[in-house]
Amino acid sequence: MKRFDFTRAGTPADAIGSAARIIAGGTNLLDLMKLQVETPERLIDINHIGLDRIEPCATDAGEGLRIGALVRNSDLAADQAVRTGWPLLSKAILAGASAQLRNRATTGGNLMQRTRCYYFYDTDAPCNKRQPGSGCAAIGGVNRIHAILGASEHCIATYPGDMAVAMAALDAVVEVEGPDGKRDIPATEFHCLPGDTPQRDNRLEPGELILGVRLPPPLQGKHIYRKIRDRRSYAFALVSVAAVVGMDQGRIGTARLAFGGVAAKPWRVPEVEAMLTKEAPSPELFARAADLVLQDAKGQGDNDFKIPLLRRSLIAVLTDATQENG
Ligand SMILES: Cc1cc2nc3c(=O)[nH]c(=O)nc-3n(C[C@H](O)[C@H](O)[C@H](O)COP(=O)(O)OP(=O)(O)OC[C@H]3O[C@@H](n4cnc5c(N)ncnc54)[C@H](O)[C@@H]3O)c2cc1C
Ligand code: SF4
Repeated sequence: MKRFDFTRAGTPADAIGSAARIIAGGTNLLDLMKLQVETPERLIDINHIGLDRIEPCATDAGEGLRIGALVRNSDLAADQAVRTGWPLLSKAILAGASAQLRNRATTGGNLMQRTRCYYFYDTDAPCNKRQPGSGCAAIGGVNRIHAILGASEHCIATYPGDMAVAMAALDAVVEVEGPDGKRDIPATEFHCLPGDTPQRDNRLEPGELILGVRLPPPLQGKHIYRKIRDRRSYAFALVSVAAVVGMDQGRIGTARLAFGGVAAKPWRVPEVEAMLTKEAPSPELFARAADLVLQDAKGQGDNDFKIPLLRRSLIAVLTDATQENG
């Protein structure tokens, strides 16, 4: 690890606009610094600036929930209001990392975690995300965990987190503040597709701080987070499906779906949700939904299996979610 200066912020204002790199739980940033994938000269610790509360808040749609950026993943997953009103979020968080990591990891840091592409972590390998213009070792290389949707010729990495997939399905909003003031970024737009700027992971501008996340009022229906991975803990999603599905007199009343492990951002397809809404559940309907989600899917060789895996996972989740009992 290279030498760095370390300061502690006392208020959000100390961190906003700072040229120093923000450190929260440190569970991703420190690993990257040890490997010299990231070499910040200055760190600013934001653990003592408040922003650690979960509280009701007003939203356009009614009373929602505001989650401070410093709320630990374990506290968020265990919060009674979250477990009751937004259980999808709780389930997604508990499907991630380990208890020790969740005790340390924060809401803001989790959103900002970087890809797990093996070549990104290997400073001897070409990687356009780490070093723009150097190439992409994953294209034509080992790409079992890589994207099947929304990739570009410059980068095929996935965003690895679970919490953000649930937040995308729940239409959460990320509150940020920079030197020019506050702004809201919908969770569905927070992360970026690689395009020709693969070095950019998200829409946060330099000097901006994540203050928190707002959730709209609870959605009625079954909340399901299904994560397929190589082992039960300490493993990132190969494919995940976040779903809130509510039934109304035998037909689908609410359908919210987001997918993880398949693109550089939580993947949401509003057309699929519209297609399912007001329809009676059936295997044919679910097969058409899966066709629509996957219509532009492209495997890279090692990860071709993700296409049928996502298809089967979505159909299984929709089947479970639309059973009136159980
Ligand atoms: C072995 C292992 C397994 C894991 N498995 C999973 C998993 O299955 N699912 C999953 O979702 N995650 C998993 N994780 C990732 C873990 O959840 C993240 O490392 C963690 O959530 C990051 O949060 P942090 O507070 O520690 O962030 P840090 O490491 O402190 O920061 C990460 C990034 O966020 C930035 N940042 C932090 N807070 C803010 C803020 N408020 N505003 C602006 N920028 C900010 C930092 O500058 C840095 O760039 C795993 C991690 C490990 C090590
Ligand atoms: S997929 Fe993206 S992160 Fe991985 S090597 Fe290619 S450019 Fe780098």
